[in-house]
Amino acid sequence: MKDSITVDELAAMLRGGVSRVRRDLDLLTRLDSAIGDGDHGLAMQRAADAIEAALAGGAGSLGDLLSRVGWEVMSIDGGSTGPLLGSLFLGMSDGAGPAASLDRDQLRALFEAGLNGLRGATGAKVGDKTLMDALIPAVDAIAACPAGADIPACLAAAAEAAERGAEATRPLRARFGRARNLGDRAIGHLDPGAVTVSLLFRGFAEALAPLPPPRDPESEENPSHGR
Ligand SMILES: [Mg+2]
Repeated sequence: MKDSITVDELAAMLRGGVSRVRRDLDLLTRLDSAIGDGDHGLAMQRAADAIEAALAGGAGSLGDLLSRVGWEVMSIDGGSTGPLLGSLFLGMSDGAGPAASLDRDQLRALFEAGLNGLRGATGAKVGDKTLMDALIPAVDAIAACPAGADIPACLAAAAEAAERGAEATRPLRARFGRARNLGDRAIGHLDPGAVTVSLLFRGFAEALAPLPPPRDPESEENPSHGR
């Protein structure tokens, strides 16, 4: 039963998230080309580079590590991606404090602090077709994780919730970002930011334990089968 994570394990989770995102940069570009300006794959490549640069600086405390990650990501050139993801990681660093390791409750508090950090940067809620559609259910899943579940199981539940949340953006109109201007034409497309969050959480979870394969996010991107 794994019921705490160390700084090194958190770094491994971040590397897992980065590596999962890197495998799907082309997907993120295609999704953003459909309803945005097509730069999200490039922005996430820069964010991935920034996270890895921050991780290469050595661990220190959890809070120091997440703060370095947050500031590096905040400073990338990539539209809204840097400030939004940067706020998530800086919020997480506030939630980590000086701890050398986290138990389950502290991990929940860490992600809740990250969500609060992001809430300082965007007013988007579930249903607005943004990254929040994946992040809020993921953080809720960690908070709702049953008492007997260990940390890898809680992160797996978060990854599944984020994937369902990203998938749920498909029928929505957008209420934020460029996609808002598309009105009904955004319907039928996944939100790229929500998909990014689902990839990050899958990578976080897979860094601690294997997961069953995800749904293909593009399997219904071409709405030809009976809808
Ligand atoms: Mg864009």
